[in-house]
Amino acid sequence: MGIRTGSEYLAGLRKHPRDVWLRGKRIDDVTTHPAFARPLAHTAALFDLQHDPRYADVLTFTAENGQRVSTSYLPCRTREDLLKRAAAYRLTAEQTLGMMGRSPDFLGSVIHGFAESAELLQPLGDRFAANLRAYAKKVRDEDLFLTHALITPQIDRSKLSGQQADEFLHLGVVRETADGLIVRGARMLATMGPIVDEVLVYSMAHQKAEDANYVFIFAMPIHAPGIRQICREPYDDGDRLVGNHPLGTNFEDSDTLIIFNDVLVPWERVFAYNNVEVINRFHGGNTGRNHSSHQAAVRGLVKLEFVVGLLMEVVKANGADKFLHVQQMVGECLHYIELMKSCLCRAVAEADVGFQGLLRPSMLAVNSARMLTARYYSRIVEIMQIVGAGGMQMMPSFEDFDSPIGADIAKYYQGAAGTDAARRVGLYKMAWDVCGDAFGSRQVQYERYHLGDPVRNLANLFLNYDKSQCQRLVAHAMEVAAHDILERQADPLALSA
Ligand SMILES: Cc1cc2nc3c(=O)[nH]c(=O)nc-3n(C[C@H](O)[C@H](O)[C@H](O)COP(=O)(O)OP(=O)(O)OC[C@H]3O[C@@H](n4cnc5c(N)ncnc54)[C@H](O)[C@@H]3O)c2cc1C
Repeated sequence: MGIRTGSEYLAGLRKHPRDVWLRGKRIDDVTTHPAFARPLAHTAALFDLQHDPRYADVLTFTAENGQRVSTSYLPCRTREDLLKRAAAYRLTAEQTLGMMGRSPDFLGSVIHGFAESAELLQPLGDRFAANLRAYAKKVRDEDLFLTHALITPQIDRSKLSGQQADEFLHLGVVRETADGLIVRGARMLATMGPIVDEVLVYSMAHQKAEDANYVFIFAMPIHAPGIRQICREPYDDGDRLVGNHPLGTNFEDSDTLIIFNDVLVPWERVFAYNNVEVINRFHGGNTGRNHSSHQAAVRGLVKLEFVVGLLMEVVKANGADKFLHVQQMVGECLHYIELMKSCLCRAVAEADVGFQGLLRPSMLAVNSARMLTARYYSRIVEIMQIVGAGGMQMMPSFEDFDSPIGADIAKYYQGAAGTDAARRVGLYKMAWDVCGDAFGSRQVQYERYHLGDPVRNLANLFLNYDKSQCQRLVAHAMEVAAHDILERQADPLALSA
């Protein structure tokens, strides 16, 4: 089949009613619910974009079976292939200004990288690695849209999964049957869950052996019997005027808690199970991390470019661009953009050979870029709040323009440098979506957490980093500058562990 159109994607959602709950009501057909309407339209447009002759060469390639498929599944034999992937990520991200983080290319890159690294699962026997490869091919050839649920729900983080108040609060295996695994319990946080085709369930690395029953990799159709999703309250029910919330009304990702109520996972959908050591090794070393972090970094750069662009327009519209400290803060943001670009260059220049002789972007480079996105993004949001100041609070609603007070709006809401009221209000409303509205708060939270806990991610970087270059310089400094220290040290050439 190969790439789908937007209407084929939507028809697929209609064909498979799912058990989705929002504000106490079950929604079978998510395609008709107003809270999902605009994000769904943007998602469908991403499918259509693959068929646009102007972009087909970037967004798709011809697979070995002759089908045109998404670039998310492109095996990288050369640096040009990696650059093609990056160009596809960028084009996709630009459609939603980097605001919809879980576009189909994100999980596409994960599952493609998983399959490339399937040999890491070989210690579990041939069957699981073969299942994973076959599933990845199915996802590619049917152009399926996936969500993922890696995290156990926040109930009591001081306890392991098996120690929670109920044995199956956290998703675990109830029993094996001839047909597959029966699983029960909950996972978070399935972003885009209501509008995807499938859910991929796996874990972060560093799981504990005692939790073996809660550590596995499998995928299921999201509409499978027993799978229920509970949505967080939407920020927009589809009734807000777009002009009043230009970003929030268009680009809201939904998030759900996902419950598995004695779901049968057929064996062919199980990719790993019952061996924490092997699964940890897989999660620590598979190529899906490289490709999905690459996607996240490119999307993050697009988002920074957009938000910094908006910042520049905001300060132009209120004349604050003439002040030195404002110029300095915008300059600081431009540095962030340039640093991100540098990381992305290094990602390709220092690509390493992963599995099957295929290239993958440098993990250190893409990892740094995505970790920096979280810091830079929240800093840019803070700067937006500082330079927009009270102006963002005095903006009227767009309805006021066409009301009896329209003349006052046109007169008193104009800005500097010939900015008319409609443009000024539009820019400031957009800025408020970024730095004040609930939509904007979620965007900050998304960048902070979407690839795991930054505290543990940074600690792991420190623990696993090749420190030799830094240590060599310290040793040299000790030699040239600290004669007294060296004479008293038991081993003059000692390096720290
Ligand atoms: C907007 C958004 C979208 C997301 N989308 C997805 C998605 O699509 N799929 C998905 O699977 N996940 C998604 N996530 C979840 C994300 O992966 C988690 O939020 C992230 O891994 C952190 O886990 P947590 O939220 O459970 O925080 P916790 O792990 O509960 O952490 C809470 C606090 O406790 C500390 N802490 C907890 N445990 C430890 C420990 N053992 N050692 C040290 N410190 C600890 C943390 O540092 C943190 O400060 C999303 C998150 C957000 C915010």
